[in-house]
Amino acid sequence: MLRKKEIGMTNIYALISVTALLINIILVVFTSVTERKNVVGRALITLILSFIVWDVGELMRRLRLDNPLFWSKVECAGVLFIPPAFYHFVTVFPEDTRSRLRRASQKYLLVAFYCTSFAFLPPLLGGKMISGVEYRFWGYEYTGTPLLTAFQFYFIGVMFVATFELFRSYKFSKDDKFEFLQVRAVAPTALTVVVLGVLTDILLPLNKNFIPLTNVQVPPLASAFTAAGATVVAYVLLKYRFLPPEVMLDNLVKSVEDGFIVTDRFGRIQLVNAFVEELFGVESKKIVGRTLKDLEAVVKDEARELIRVISGLEELRKIVELPNVVLEVIVSPIMFKGALFGHLVELRDISKLVEREKELAEKTRALEKQTEELKATVKELMDARRALLNILEDVDASKKELAEAYERLKEIDEMKNNFMIIAIHELGTPLTIIRGNVDMLLSGVFGELSYEQQERLLVINESVNRLTKLLDDLRAVMTIKEGRLRLNKRECSIKTLVHDVVRDLSAFARQKGHTLRVDVPDVKVTCDVEKVKSVIYNLLDNAIKFTPEGGSIEITAEEISDAESGKNYVKFCVADTGVGIPKDELPKIFEAFYEVGGYLTHRRGMGVGLFVVRSVVEAHGGRVWAESEVGRGSRFFFTLPK
Ligand code: ADP
Repeated sequence: MLRKKEIGMTNIYALISVTALLINIILVVFTSVTERKNVVGRALITLILSFIVWDVGELMRRLRLDNPLFWSKVECAGVLFIPPAFYHFVTVFPEDTRSRLRRASQKYLLVAFYCTSFAFLPPLLGGKMISGVEYRFWGYEYTGTPLLTAFQFYFIGVMFVATFELFRSYKFSKDDKFEFLQVRAVAPTALTVVVLGVLTDILLPLNKNFIPLTNVQVPPLASAFTAAGATVVAYVLLKYRFLPPEVMLDNLVKSVEDGFIVTDRFGRIQLVNAFVEELFGVESKKIVGRTLKDLEAVVKDEARELIRVISGLEELRKIVELPNVVLEVIVSPIMFKGALFGHLVELRDISKLVEREKELAEKTRALEKQTEELKATVKELMDARRALLNILEDVDASKKELAEAYERLKEIDEMKNNFMIIAIHELGTPLTIIRGNVDMLLSGVFGELSYEQQERLLVINESVNRLTKLLDDLRAVMTIKEGRLRLNKRECSIKTLVHDVVRDLSAFARQKGHTLRVDVPDVKVTCDVEKVKSVIYNLLDNAIKFTPEGGSIEITAEEISDAESGKNYVKFCVADTGVGIPKDELPKIFEAFYEVGGYLTHRRGMGVGLFVVRSVVEAHGGRVWAESEVGRGSRFFFTLPK
């Protein structure tokens, strides 16, 4: 038989269980209605359902119904699923749009916990975890096997891991005030419930529920704690789900980036936000209730100027520059049903805007300057272009003139050529006749000639020869210029060749009183004999011509060999003691119709002799050049390949 007191105690503890059960049932119904659509709500429902199974089992056991062992198993079945359900809850709480159930590892862990809990179910129902029941003064308590102890350690472990996770959520929720508040409300509650639950329902039962070293016996109360804990959690969820408008408004005003001051119609400040607190350097508690004028004495120095501007609370819109910040200040009345209700002071930080405007102005100025420079450059370019066009026009005109001049020159050249051809031809015929007749007269065919007559005829003959030579030269120039110079080579002795020329010119030399020395070896060359003769003739003729009377003239020749090409040449030299040629004229004397001005004493040629000389020598593969000193004489050299 049980004593009365014991029955009373039993009933009290049963009452606690009933209360916890009722609270949990109410919570599960309520949460199912309001929160079933969100993950946190669903996790909470699972958790509370586990609590309910536990509560039912505990209550039935405590009420000493027929089968305490069966109800103990029911109770334990509920407890089995508390760890995974609780862990599930903390991994999704507090709900937000960021990926909750944050890491894959948490998902695996959750599945593992559920599986483990399921794994305990068969041994539990098969009686391998609970060995029997014992009666205590608050009702029946079951005694467990080592498997139950193992489960209890698993339970403690998971609950602590979960609580730890919950505290970790602080980190995640730092930048979200509401989440932070939720975690802050739930995490300590959860920790308390877990610690107390573990103490009273797992650790104390190891000592038959006696507090160590005392004879005070405390019954397991965890189910009651869980009810309390679940209530707190549900409240937290609700509180932040249906946030009261004033809280929202308050938060809104406080979090707005611009400054806000709301005054009532007496000018007393009713509301300020963080911006204003910082600007004034005064906490909002110390601001609210005061007028702006009262504040002037307490705010930071730099804010005083601002207070002076707004303290009159007259409607205004103004820019106020404080040392660290530029503000756009707007004071406007708040009307309520046509009556003045108070004032709103808005303070907008436009420092960045002002700075940007300044930068923009500077950039614009720089751009304008650049544009000006560009304009100047463009103008210069245009001018240059115009000048260039003018020059081009001039060039065009000059080109045209040149082309015309060239055309004219070509015409003249052609005329000259035609003239020369005609002149050479027309002069040649009478000259041949004259020469024939003079020769006949001199030969005495027409009778003996007196010495006087002979002398005259010789002079005529000399002039005819000169004229013939001139015509020959002109013919040669024409031939060369038209590219028709042909060589008719044969072998001959240079000695004979030179002597032939000397014979022709000896009278001329004698006439000028020159001494003429010839020193030419008897060497054979292959050449156009007539043309080479004309070369030597020209050189000797010039030497005689350009040497004042009584000079000395020398013709020499020697064999040489060119080291570079290994070829053998005969090098001729015609030297005189004449007027000489200035250095700067030397390179030009071999051009056609060139005559050295100012030094001539005997103008008897046309400036074509040396041109013919060069053309003939070069046609043979030889070279011609001259050395000279004005007043001392000249030396003309030419080579002929052997
Ligand atoms: P030209 O028919 O006038 O003799 P050349 O072509 O033979 O023409 O000679 C060109 C010019 O070279 C001559 O006008 C003369 O001024 C100069 N010249 C040629 N040979 C001599 C020389 N031996 N001494 C000085 N000047 C010479």
